[in-house]
Amino acid sequence: MTRLSARHRPRLWIVLVVLGLLALAVWINSPVVGRLFDRSGERVAALPAAAPFRAGQRVLMLSPHPDDETLCCAGLLQQAQAAGAQVSIAWMTAGDGFEFDAALTERTLKPGPQNMRALGNTRVGEARRAAAVLGVPAQRTYMLGYPDGGLFRLFTTNFTQPYTAPRTRADAVYVTGALTPGAPFTGEALEADITRVLDRVQPDLVLAPAPQDFHTDHHTLSYIALQLMSRRGQADRLHFWVVHGGLEWPVPKGLHAELPLTVPPLATRLPWTRVDLTDEQREHKLEAVRAYRTQTQIEPRFMEAFVRANELLSPQPLPESGSGVAASGE
Ligand SMILES: [Zn+2]
Repeated sequence: MTRLSARHRPRLWIVLVVLGLLALAVWINSPVVGRLFDRSGERVAALPAAAPFRAGQRVLMLSPHPDDETLCCAGLLQQAQAAGAQVSIAWMTAGDGFEFDAALTERTLKPGPQNMRALGNTRVGEARRAAAVLGVPAQRTYMLGYPDGGLFRLFTTNFTQPYTAPRTRADAVYVTGALTPGAPFTGEALEADITRVLDRVQPDLVLAPAPQDFHTDHHTLSYIALQLMSRRGQADRLHFWVVHGGLEWPVPKGLHAELPLTVPPLATRLPWTRVDLTDEQREHKLEAVRAYRTQTQIEPRFMEAFVRANELLSPQPLPESGSGVAASGE
């Protein structure tokens, strides 16, 4: 090796890293690359259609945060209502744990507990507006208001002992219009609130996050929903969706309403069914996504990437073979 080539070696690494990052950016953002390298679009086309909705059917969406109900399911919630079904939405949290979001909306570099609580109340308003866009009236929406990012604590260490959320410094439900104002941040209270909603709605179909969803609040809600519905002898009424599906899913980012929503990498072996959206349903979905101003100002390309030709729903929480374990992503 000459001294010259040794001096150039570090630069070669830089070039390789830059090229790698460029390739990654193209993969994430280009609608063409994905179609060239995988057959996921064909796989989606071959999936069976989801069971149609019926008049009089009662559908309950369990949403961990304001926006999940829209990202996963805005199209099928519209279809349910068009078929004469009654749709209700329950949000577990107000999405008050996103510090960077509060910094932007509250115009402060270091958002304090009051700023975080203000963000929570803003997101409650956005959630109700998005629901209205999807045709779900306010009296069929339930804001539970438990801590964003805290559901796993409630499910485990804080089932009976109130949890203090680090961002809001709240240890009880504080958001305006909550189902049970002042309820302590405990798993017990959360379960009691979900049970209240189940008793009131008497759902035939419950839409919950799949155990494979990467976000901790999401898979924790999946476990809670499975437990509560099993105790009622109604676990078969649960159907599952994914929002945080792993590996930058859904790619490409941005608005590509004509492309299929592919199967999420973390849950490839779930028995997915497909719900095809009409142009009008996609337009309403985009409108509902954009009702979440606090979110779209930060990650518009992630949010809009869910507006696709189809949505996906699994009637089972685990792959049929039983070999896949949720936590390890199958
Ligand atoms: Zn979420």
